[in-house]
Amino acid sequence: MELTRQEIIRLLSDEQKQGDLFKKADEVRRQYVGDEVHLRGLIEFSNICRNNCMYCGIRRDNPQLARYRMSEEELVDTARKAAEMGFKTIVMQSGEDMWFSRERMCRIVEQIKKFDVAITLSVGERPYADYKAWFDAGADRYLIRIETTDKDLYHRLDPGMSWQYRHECLMALKEIGYELGSGIMVGLPEQSIESIADDLLYLKEIGVDMAGIGPFIPHAQTPLKDEKGGTLDLARRTMAVMRLLLPDINIPATTAMESLHPMGRILALQSGANVVMPNVTEGEYRRLYELYPGKICVNDTPLHCKTCIGAKIMSIGRKVGMGYGGHAGKLPHGAK
Ligand code: SAH
Repeated sequence: MELTRQEIIRLLSDEQKQGDLFKKADEVRRQYVGDEVHLRGLIEFSNICRNNCMYCGIRRDNPQLARYRMSEEELVDTARKAAEMGFKTIVMQSGEDMWFSRERMCRIVEQIKKFDVAITLSVGERPYADYKAWFDAGADRYLIRIETTDKDLYHRLDPGMSWQYRHECLMALKEIGYELGSGIMVGLPEQSIESIADDLLYLKEIGVDMAGIGPFIPHAQTPLKDEKGGTLDLARRTMAVMRLLLPDINIPATTAMESLHPMGRILALQSGANVVMPNVTEGEYRRLYELYPGKICVNDTPLHCKTCIGAKIMSIGRKVGMGYGGHAGKLPHGAK
């Protein structure tokens, strides 16, 4: 759907009529991507990070966080178990941990590919040659949020990083042939509604296959600890407008939404979302991958999470997707 910047701003601002927006987004979702909810098994495989994002709990300068890194074997094993549980997509996310070299990630991708799953990587900014090698090894999708398109805000929040470089990473990933996932946080300090409208237009412009939108949640061990953070309602309105702008893409009900409200992900699924990423990380690692406080399910097992979200999905009359769930039916490398 075409919406002007002005119309987007109005939809994002109108708290009174947000119910109508959610309903419309839900209808568009049903019409374009149907009632299936695609599940992705999320593995948080390292909380070691070379960056220092002001909002993020796993930033380099958080000395209070115990750091971990899965071994190659552990990571592949976690993915194998997730595939055995029925996940058709494995998402591997971490801080920017350079121990996972180009070659090491290639080996990991090749091994996990044998489990007949689509592979999504989310390991941040890397040189073109890394992205290309991982794609050739079998990675199908890549997830890297632009976070905000307000460049001043970006440079204040991500010291030492370059907005332009992040944008170029997105362009490189698209050119290589990945299904491209990006997204933003809402409720960042000094982020305006106008700027969120620009973010949505940017995501449309670059043609993302997936867009993740979550509220910023202040973390006590970061410089932004005293900020207000985003609300579930604003995150939902943003997500709903994204659905109107890009009617057939994949939109996750983000975990951060559920951290703000016990029904956050269900509410998201009823206002435009069609994907959920249950955590399949095991043991202590779940708790230690603390991007923000109040993270849900930190004491649960992978199987519990899958069963729990499956039941919630059915309770609202939707069904769990059995396929790979690529954008517009795109199949992963080597799928039969
Ligand atoms: N290193 C990877 C993964 C980053 S963590 C990368 O750079 O892409 C995944 C996402 O969590 C981030 O992109 C950011 O949007 C979100 N995030 C980080 N800190 C957060 C916070 N305090 N509140 C809400 N979301 C946060």
